[in-house]
Amino acid sequence: MKKTYFTVGPSQIYPTVAKHLSQGLKNNIASISHRGRQYQEIHEDTVLDLKKLMNIPNNYSIFFLGSALEAMERILENCVHKSSFHFVNGAFAKKFYEFGLNLKKNPTKIEVADGTGFDFDKIKVPNIAELIAITHNETSTGVAIPVEEIYKLKDKYPDKLIALDIVSSVPYVDLDFRKLDLVFFSVQKGFGMPAGLGVLIVSSKAQDKSKALKEKGLNIGTFHSFPQLLKLSEKNQTPGTPNVLYIYLLGKVVKDFLIHGVGTIKEETEKKAKLIYDYFSKHKKYAPFVQNKRFWSQTTIVIDLKGDTEKVVEKLKKRGIIVGRGYGDYKNEHIRIANFPAHKLKDIQRLLSF
Ligand SMILES: *Cc1c(COP(=O)(O)O)cnc(C)c1O
Repeated sequence: MKKTYFTVGPSQIYPTVAKHLSQGLKNNIASISHRGRQYQEIHEDTVLDLKKLMNIPNNYSIFFLGSALEAMERILENCVHKSSFHFVNGAFAKKFYEFGLNLKKNPTKIEVADGTGFDFDKIKVPNIAELIAITHNETSTGVAIPVEEIYKLKDKYPDKLIALDIVSSVPYVDLDFRKLDLVFFSVQKGFGMPAGLGVLIVSSKAQDKSKALKEKGLNIGTFHSFPQLLKLSEKNQTPGTPNVLYIYLLGKVVKDFLIHGVGTIKEETEKKAKLIYDYFSKHKKYAPFVQNKRFWSQTTIVIDLKGDTEKVVEKLKKRGIIVGRGYGDYKNEHIRIANFPAHKLKDIQRLLSF
């Protein structure tokens, strides 16, 4: 039976990935040297197309890492000396904060109940914080932060660096990078690829911070420190041996997205999300977990099934429809439905029909 994965990551593979993967293997992409000309062209191509797709200014660098969690660690090591400040509203934001604790960066946080957003006007970021960490789309709870609120923070605290996790909202989210310093994602969610590649976008201001910390004698890491990553990225290379095949694949998927159109992706995403939210808003028993519509995620939708998770998950599974269970303590309470470019309107309609 054909299966459709609505899990929030890894998720349904984008339809063109199989073709690109076999083409890549046929062309020996997995065997070529990561120091040769052919790799450099692939690297440059992927970077340039990502910049086009996401409207990333030229003075921002793109680094390839192992995962999004790695990006969190690299950001803290390279951009925080005394303290970071974290917006925590779920499991992924909490991890970022906890990495700060582990790295002894004296992180502080504002933490709100799962399924809620923040009252931005009331939040005071401590003076000592050099960096503000925000999860744009909290995959564990289905809360998305309006980007305007993030930009307002930058206006209010222009000297602080803003780090934004867009793992489960890319490529849907439309960003103004001038208000952001560090933006990161991995590819197994919205890009519909196999897991194992992280992407970190870094402003020149964040690069300068990393250099300054190094000059102070602080530990900013080794081969994946920003100065190392920058030095190699200027040659369209990476410090270690990268996942050449996935960097190639990412470039291909980004090209497909560019052809499909960012605007079309955005429209389709919102149309599909509306179907899901309309259905569950009218349901007699079930309801969206996030109550305030202003914070409704368009890409990872969490539904409170009031304890029916097992029943619903199993029923859908018999039809080849795989949805995610709730995160952590909500394992038996919620389901999570991914709404990525790989999920077509008719897939969503089929899911809802059951
Ligand atoms: C999945 C996810 C991560 C972790 O991504 P990895 O690739 O597993 O490191 C981080 N943040 C958010 C919001 C996520 O959804």
